[in-house]
Amino acid sequence: MTIQSPLSRREALKLIAATSSLAITAPVFASSRSRSAGALLPWSDLPTPVKGFKVIADLSTGGNTLLATHKDHAILIDTKFASYGPALLQDARTLNNDSTHLTTINTHHHGDHTGGNAFLLPHAKHSYAQHNAVPRIQSQLDQAKSEAESGPEKFANAGASEELIAFAHQAAHSLDLITKQAVTPKHTFEDSAEVEHPTTPVSLHHFGAGHTDNDLIVHFENHNIIHTGDLVFAGLHPFFFPAHGATALGWINSLQAVYKRTDKHTQIIPGHGQPGDRSLITNQINYLEQLVEQVQKQIDAGTPKETVAEMHWDFMDGLGFEQIKSRAINAVYDELSQ
Ligand SMILES: [Zn+2]
Repeated sequence: MTIQSPLSRREALKLIAATSSLAITAPVFASSRSRSAGALLPWSDLPTPVKGFKVIADLSTGGNTLLATHKDHAILIDTKFASYGPALLQDARTLNNDSTHLTTINTHHHGDHTGGNAFLLPHAKHSYAQHNAVPRIQSQLDQAKSEAESGPEKFANAGASEELIAFAHQAAHSLDLITKQAVTPKHTFEDSAEVEHPTTPVSLHHFGAGHTDNDLIVHFENHNIIHTGDLVFAGLHPFFFPAHGATALGWINSLQAVYKRTDKHTQIIPGHGQPGDRSLITNQINYLEQLVEQVQKQIDAGTPKETVAEMHWDFMDGLGFEQIKSRAINAVYDELSQ
């Protein structure tokens, strides 16, 4: 159990820098390849397309957002950075036959998955997060405001359309909407919950601390689709922030529990990186197990932490998010040294 404490200003600034580094500013908006008709953001089909399901899985926009629409009810999983909030709300309606029925789910509290909450949750009948996420989301108002303020310039630099930049301006001009009440999910749970939906069974599961102390996975049981949140970084180094309850050993346990809910046809939406099959889960388990093993060897050999932090092992070959590799090593070093 992690004790909740408000972040110090220094920690908060470190967090902003760290989560912002997960958004790579490449001009993805200019691409029309995967744009859905009438949508503002670059939504794509799943690897095996399923009617009503669309994902934004490029690395430049923060955590992967999944939209599931069925009988005029939209479920939106993760809300990216604050500057995306108004555009996500617009797209959730456009891609849902202009219906306003909306449910939101946050896979965990990190700002690149909850930043848009203030612009979405007040319009959602139901909104969900794991219980431990709430105080952490509420402590990030300043981060969300600063992301909203800098949005228009970032969007313009990334080659976004005029229309999308206008939506980012909407967020930048509505900082007073970013309140504790607006960002807070209405429904929370400890271990698991069923999402209220008229036709489609959707379950939420928390398997203990892993990437954070409030990770949840979203399981569309009839469609055999799972959004894992940041329990899976596909083709990327995973992001560790120990103050949020990150634990490599807990993370491995959580992933093993997720794997048990899959078969070879399950489609996995990771927190970052491209969707795929359940090999994304086994790849993530392999990475974490090898990281634990290699770091333990170095600890046993007495190698100083600074030296270990700069090491590279074969299982890390070819992965993106190189800038957060040392964070992962340092975090595991500290976890295993306790
Ligand atoms: Zn995260």
